[in-house]
Amino acid sequence: MQQFPTDILIAGQWRRGAGEPVDTVDPATGRLLATVHSASADEVAEAAEAAAEAVADPAWRDLPAHDRARLLHRIGELTEQAADELSAVQTADTGKTLTETRALALSAAGTFRYMAAVLETAEETVTPSRGPYVTVSTHEPIGVVGAINPWNSPVASDAQKIAPALAAGNAVILKPAAWTPLVSLALGRLITQALDEFRLPSALLSVLPGSGRVVGDALVRHPLVGRIGFTGGTETGRSIAEIAARKLIPASLELGGKSPTIVRADADIAQALAGVLFGIFSSSGQSCIAGSRLFVAREIYDSFVGELVERARELRVGPGTDPATQVGPLVHHRHRDSVAAYVDLARSEGARVLCGGSAPEGQLYEHGAYYLPTVLDGLPNTSRTCQEEIFGPVLVALPYDDEDDLVRQANDSVYGLACGIWTRDLRAAGALARRIEAGTVWINTYKQFSASTPFSGWKDSGLGTEKGRDAIRAYQRQKSLYWGISDHPLPWAN
Ligand code: NAD
Repeated sequence: MQQFPTDILIAGQWRRGAGEPVDTVDPATGRLLATVHSASADEVAEAAEAAAEAVADPAWRDLPAHDRARLLHRIGELTEQAADELSAVQTADTGKTLTETRALALSAAGTFRYMAAVLETAEETVTPSRGPYVTVSTHEPIGVVGAINPWNSPVASDAQKIAPALAAGNAVILKPAAWTPLVSLALGRLITQALDEFRLPSALLSVLPGSGRVVGDALVRHPLVGRIGFTGGTETGRSIAEIAARKLIPASLELGGKSPTIVRADADIAQALAGVLFGIFSSSGQSCIAGSRLFVAREIYDSFVGELVERARELRVGPGTDPATQVGPLVHHRHRDSVAAYVDLARSEGARVLCGGSAPEGQLYEHGAYYLPTVLDGLPNTSRTCQEEIFGPVLVALPYDDEDDLVRQANDSVYGLACGIWTRDLRAAGALARRIEAGTVWINTYKQFSASTPFSGWKDSGLGTEKGRDAIRAYQRQKSLYWGISDHPLPWAN
C-alpha cells in the first residue's frame, strides 16, 4: 500500500503541524490514506515572517527575471517528470480518474513553463516624457502572497497561483483544502527541490493544510500577507474580500458557477451530446465551470434530451484508478450526501428524474462516495435547483422558445462563470456569446483550458483574473520612476 507523507511544509521545513489532525480518505473505498496534522495559527505567522525575510534576501530579491524564469522552467520539468506520481496521489485523494489527474499534473507543468516564458518576455514601459525627465513604469513584487484553494483540482489550481506569484518575485503560502492536502504537499516537495538546486531561500514556499476557519483565516488576516489568490465558494470569497478590504490588499476571487449550456436546433447533435455529457459529468460534476443548466431549442428538446439520458445511463461509474471509468466517486461522503440532498430538493420542487437520482448499487460502490449521473427536467429556471450550485453530477434540462427568452433565462443567475453554445451558425454563436454574462464562453467545445487565455468569473463567480500574460502583473505592484535629465536646479527654489 502506498505511503503518503504526513509532514507539512512550514517556512521551508518539513515537520508535523501543531494544529488538529485531519484524516484524508480515499473516496472510492473509504480507506484512510493519511492523517495530516494541520498547521496552527502560530505556524501561519511563522511562515509569513520567514516568507517576508526570504523575499528580502538578496539571493531572491536581486535575482534577474530571466533567472527566476529558469527556476520556473525547472519546477515545470520536475512536475512533468513526477506526473504519474502526482496523478496517483490526486486520484487517491480526490477520486478523480487517473486520465484526468494526469492531465491536471501536466497542465500544472505547462503553467510553470508558460509563466516562465511570459516572465522572460515581459517589458517595462518608458512613458512619454512631459518634462526634463525620463519616466519609467516598473513592476515589483508585493511580498508575501497567500494562495487558498479548494479540493476539486488541487495541483492545477496550485500552479495557477504559485507560478505567477513566484514569477512576480513573491514568496507564497499555499493553503490546500482540508480534504485534499496530499498532492499540494507533493508539489511542495518538487518546488523545494528546485529552490535548493538554485540555492534560493527555502521559506519562499510554505504549504499549510488545515481548516479554512483556522489556517485560512489566519493567513488572510496576517499583516505581512499582502495579497490573496483565492479559489472556492462564493460565500467564503465574500468573507475573504471583506477582510482584504479592511487591510487594503488585493484579492483575486475565482468562485462558484451554475453555467448554462445552450443547444440550438442547428447544432451538430453528435458533437453537442458528447460536449454536454463531458461538460457536466466529467470530474463527477465537481467543477466550477460544469455546464449544469442545459437549454435546448424546443423543437429538438425531446429527441436531444432522450438521447442524452440514454448516453448518461451508459456512462461507466467506478474508481478513478480503473482506466475504463468515466465518472469517479465524489470527493467525500459528506459531499455526496449534499449532492443527494439537492436531488431530493429537486424532487420536492417537482422535478422529473430522467436518470440517476441515487447512489449506484453493488459491491464495487459499497464503501465509496458514488452518485449516479443524474438528469432532471420539469423545473423553471427560477427553482432553487436551477439557481444553486450543486457541484455534482446533476444536470437540469430546460426547453427554450426564442433567443431573447433564452438569453434572459441563461443570465438569470447570480453566477457568471461560463457558458457553452452548440450551433453550426458561427455568426449566431458570436452574437449570442456577446449577450451572455460570463467570463468564458465555449462555442462548439467545452471545458477546454489554456494557460495563455485569461480566466475570470463575472457577477458572484468572482473578481479578478487568473492565467494569461497579465497573470504575473496581478501579483505585482507598479512603481513609477522619474529620472531627471536637466542640468539646472528645479526653478521653484531659485
Ligand atoms: P470553500 O469556499 O469551502 O473552500 C475553499 C478554500 O477556502 C478551502 O481551502 C477552505 O479551507 C478555505 N476556506 C474556507 N473558509 C475560509 C475562511 N473563512 N478564510 C480563509 N479560507 C477559508 O470551497 P470548496 O467547497 O472547497 O470548493 C468548492 C467551491 O469552489 C465551489 O463553489 C466551486 O465552484 C469553487 N471553485 C471555483 C473555481 C473557479 O476557478 N472559479 C474553481 C474550482 C472551484
